[in-house]
Amino acid sequence: MLLSEKNLIGSIRRLAAASRNQAVLRGIGDDCAVLRPKAGFDLLVTTDLSIEDVHFRRAWHPARSVGHRCLARGLSDIAAMSGEPLACFLSLGLPPDLPQKWADQFLAGLMAVARRWSVELAGGDVSSAAKITADIMVVGQAPTGKAILRSGAKPGDRIFVTGQLGASAAVLRRMFAGERVRPSRSSRHFFPEPRLEVASVLRQRGLASSMIDLSDGLSVDLAHICEESRVAARISASKIPIASGADLQLALHGGEDYELLFTAPPQARVPKQIAEVQISEIGAILRLSERESKKSHSRKDYSSAIEILDKNGLLEPLAPLGWQHFRKK
Ligand SMILES: [Mg+2]
Repeated sequence: MLLSEKNLIGSIRRLAAASRNQAVLRGIGDDCAVLRPKAGFDLLVTTDLSIEDVHFRRAWHPARSVGHRCLARGLSDIAAMSGEPLACFLSLGLPPDLPQKWADQFLAGLMAVARRWSVELAGGDVSSAAKITADIMVVGQAPTGKAILRSGAKPGDRIFVTGQLGASAAVLRRMFAGERVRPSRSSRHFFPEPRLEVASVLRQRGLASSMIDLSDGLSVDLAHICEESRVAARISASKIPIASGADLQLALHGGEDYELLFTAPPQARVPKQIAEVQISEIGAILRLSERESKKSHSRKDYSSAIEILDKNGLLEPLAPLGWQHFRKK
């Protein structure tokens, strides 16, 4: 059966009723949603686009995975600020010849994540589009002034990552090579888990001085921390937790792991595991060299802010390469 907008809006409303958050006073059904964060909390807002053939391919990614990833990406940004998610808003552009089943599976994947984290689907929009386009907006809250920012890293802080890196890029590499990869539930590529619990423990214990989620790749996201904090960084290749099936290059530059990268002051007691997720110390924050700090505050300057100690004990600059997935080679 082909897509009917009426059916789609009907099923979105039914599904939304199954996701509730007490901060949402009015969800779908009025001109605007009405949200009320707890007194003494700041609102966090993030948006993320998922576009067919840019962020996913219909031949590679089941609709359920596309829906899951769509919301998980937004929740990962809320985790990166150490926030608690409240509500999400979904704007969908769908080709008119898309089977209804695809849309149903997409919504099932998205709503399973919404229920898991008590995020209410509180509004959105539906339109026809040439390619599948899903724009998710997530609203969260953090105690006033306590959201963990990218700009708080100080020279002497240690650098940590959660989980293992490179798993998502390793799957993409296999699919680019023509392999059909079965989308298992435990795959961080197909079904990434936002690290909301780890982030909330870090905030409650006051451990992290800065934080970002690993969406573009360690080299790029660490450069964002360096840029916003006006610092440099040194990491050790031997300390990077490499996911099985990945290698150092994928762990350094592969995107979409949705792990957290954070810094902690020298005296902070950072456990080896938080909420059953492994925490690895991978390096340290350094002062920007005289040469770097005199340059203007632009992204380009921070391309040389990171160095990596390789397994032979040699110090090399680490360029923020990132992973330009689905780019035509
Ligand atoms: Mg992010």
